[in-house]
Amino acid sequence: MQGLTHYAAGMIITVVVWHVLSDKIAEKRQFFKKAITVGTISGNLLQATRALVIFFSAIIVHYILDDLAIHTYHPPGPEADWGNLVFAVWTLGNIAIVSPLFLFLMVWRDRRYLWGLFGSILIDLWDWGFIKGLAALAGHPVFPEAIMHSAPRPLFQLLAATTPDFTRFQWAILIEVLYMAGLLAGWLLLKKRWPLPPKKPGHVWPSIILVVCFGIVTCYVVSSILVPIYPW
Ligand SMILES: [Zn+2]
Repeated sequence: MQGLTHYAAGMIITVVVWHVLSDKIAEKRQFFKKAITVGTISGNLLQATRALVIFFSAIIVHYILDDLAIHTYHPPGPEADWGNLVFAVWTLGNIAIVSPLFLFLMVWRDRRYLWGLFGSILIDLWDWGFIKGLAALAGHPVFPEAIMHSAPRPLFQLLAATTPDFTRFQWAILIEVLYMAGLLAGWLLLKKRWPLPPKKPGHVWPSIILVVCFGIVTCYVVSSILVPIYPW
């Protein structure tokens, strides 16, 4: 799926988790009031729990959306045709313009979406960007290609066995546009129903550094676990 589809899911998760793990919980339970400090960021256990639940839920939902991508236009890697205008505009437009711009605008507007947004595209950044960079730095492959996407995918296998594969049909872009629109509309409705509490002042950069470090460690550990399970 494209970045915006994943982001919308991460934003829905953020609103739901902020509603379930609300500030009222910290008032009731002493445990959540415990202070916690990481670098220049200080908060309490409730804030840390919230960030982690959002982050890992966003990663899991990424897999589900990628499984559903079998019904949308995503030609397999070797068939990617950059000379094809529809493929080039749809893919490049999403990767180079819409995804980074949307991420920047959302995080700049409200940094509480950072963990959900970053978690929602983390394994794409790792598999399609970071491990290639690592390999170039090391001079040899550090992890097999697409290692995070190689985790067991029972839903994908079920969909592949029971439903048609539209990944080579350009018209299936419309199906993903429907997913994007539906998820964004769902986020807007949920946000209206369960608004986030007023923002507290603070800088976004320490949180960005923390979430990026956390993402790298998470993917490194999971990739290391997956390598012996999936010997290429
Ligand atoms: Zn993916």
